[in-house]
Amino acid sequence: MTDNDRPDAARRTPEALRDTPSGAFGDAPDVLRPSVAVVGSGPSGCYVASFLGKKWPGSQIIIFESMPTPYGLVRYGIAADHQGTKNVTRQFDRLFTKDGVHFAGNVCVGADLDFDELAAAFDIVVLATGLPEDRSLDIPIDPNARVMGAGTLLRALNGYPSHSVPRDSDGRCSALGEQLAVVGMGNVALDVVRLMSKDSHEFDGSDIDDELLEQLRPHRPGTIDVISRSGLALAKFDHAMLRELLSLPNIEVTVNGLSDSATGPAAELLRTHIDGGAASVTADAPRTHVRLHFQLTPDSVTTEGGRTCLRTSTPGGRDAQADFVVDTVITAIGFTQGPEHDPSSPTGHWSGDNVYRVGWLSRGPHGAIPENRKDARQVVERIAEDVASGRLRFGKPGHAAVEHLLRDVVTFADWQRIEAFEQSEALPGRCRRKVTDRTHMLSIATSTPSSGSRPDLAAVPPRPKETTVPHHTHQLPVRESDT
Ligand SMILES: Cc1cc2nc3c(=O)[nH]c(=O)nc-3n(C[C@H](O)[C@H](O)[C@H](O)COP(=O)(O)OP(=O)(O)OC[C@H]3O[C@@H](n4cnc5c(N)ncnc54)[C@H](O)[C@@H]3O)c2cc1C
Repeated sequence: MTDNDRPDAARRTPEALRDTPSGAFGDAPDVLRPSVAVVGSGPSGCYVASFLGKKWPGSQIIIFESMPTPYGLVRYGIAADHQGTKNVTRQFDRLFTKDGVHFAGNVCVGADLDFDELAAAFDIVVLATGLPEDRSLDIPIDPNARVMGAGTLLRALNGYPSHSVPRDSDGRCSALGEQLAVVGMGNVALDVVRLMSKDSHEFDGSDIDDELLEQLRPHRPGTIDVISRSGLALAKFDHAMLRELLSLPNIEVTVNGLSDSATGPAAELLRTHIDGGAASVTADAPRTHVRLHFQLTPDSVTTEGGRTCLRTSTPGGRDAQADFVVDTVITAIGFTQGPEHDPSSPTGHWSGDNVYRVGWLSRGPHGAIPENRKDARQVVERIAEDVASGRLRFGKPGHAAVEHLLRDVVTFADWQRIEAFEQSEALPGRCRRKVTDRTHMLSIATSTPSSGSRPDLAAVPPRPKETTVPHHTHQLPVRESDT
């Protein structure tokens, strides 16, 4: 996440700006209790703060976060219909409400606060900034082709305050179209297929951005071709994810490249679905035809008559049968660092004896939330070893040394006001309606500056663009599958 859409201070309304209250960041550190700066409040940042707090109780631990909201990909990556997984935030909340860890939101290290100043001020600095960018396909791509990263799409459907999704001249997001191709077949690819294939009522209990879903996907697509470079045996998705997809009532899944000799749980699941699947779909029900293709390698993306053509080859070579003419290609092939020139992206220069890395930033875009916990534990063990060996010493002032540099910090209580506001605005069948405008977020955060986590709703300005979204089921007319 490059934070390109972050309004600079000059563009924010004065009432949205606020200095951090003096003393808001707890006791001063000393030689026994370190000052700790964690950069990034995703799972790895939260876990590392938790382990450090247990290791050195009473230390000053601040999690700096570029967004006004905590929890990284838990809020803006994990699919909106996976609220059970997102509920890990209740566990992380305790860090800030009970365990004395401090949240400093709306502070982008590298942009608002210089990395060198941070590293000079704190005994321990842990970088937990994740990998915010979609990895792009390393093949020739016509600039006019419609290609979007899965991370961008999921972020948008999760209400990320950004304009990275292509928009029409009227400001509405351009619809993805009736025929989609998804490149990649890991869990994120299956998230995309599931979210695109569900009817509106199937999102009950979620916090999906309904306005955006309506614009991006006015109807469920007719076909989704999902393309995997590897064979089924090496597919990267979890079986639970495949099972969930196959259980959707209005999809039909077919597989290209499922040999009779294929074995294993995924092959069994697919065979069972294909053999008995038709029975679960009523004859006249509109369906999304999901076609899984294995062992196809993308070669190029071109345009043909205004549509996007993904050319692929089989292990035997080029095969015109394996070209997909679609409305949009969605890539789900992993994640990477922000651009080199982005000051908020940790470069090699972000290092030092007291600087550590954790989570996706350190080990790559692999692994679910529990992996970050393991990772965080190991990093804290390494820090403890460095302290034991005398390589790392405590005594830096922490917050007091950077306080004068911080402006407009969103504290945890401020975030709770944003959260309460979002919950109070939930549409029927949804658990919250996220605020998608950063300036609006900041104005809610500061709506009751004195105390309390409930927003003073009377003091909160309305959403910048009020749009009423009808809560109804979208029906896709039955259509022939494409060639
Ligand atoms: C689309 C998607 C769906 C997923 N679904 C699941 C799922 O269902 N279940 C599951 O267990 N896992 C899922 N994962 C994986 C899970 O989200 C990751 O394992 C986890 O979020 C990685 O945690 P992290 O803390 O390393 O990074 P992140 O969660 O990315 O957190 C990084 C944080 O650092 C902040 N930051 C970045 N730069 C700066 C800076 N310069 N200054 C201050 N702050 C900064 C970011 O704003 C962000 O909040 C999914 C991932 C994706 C992309």
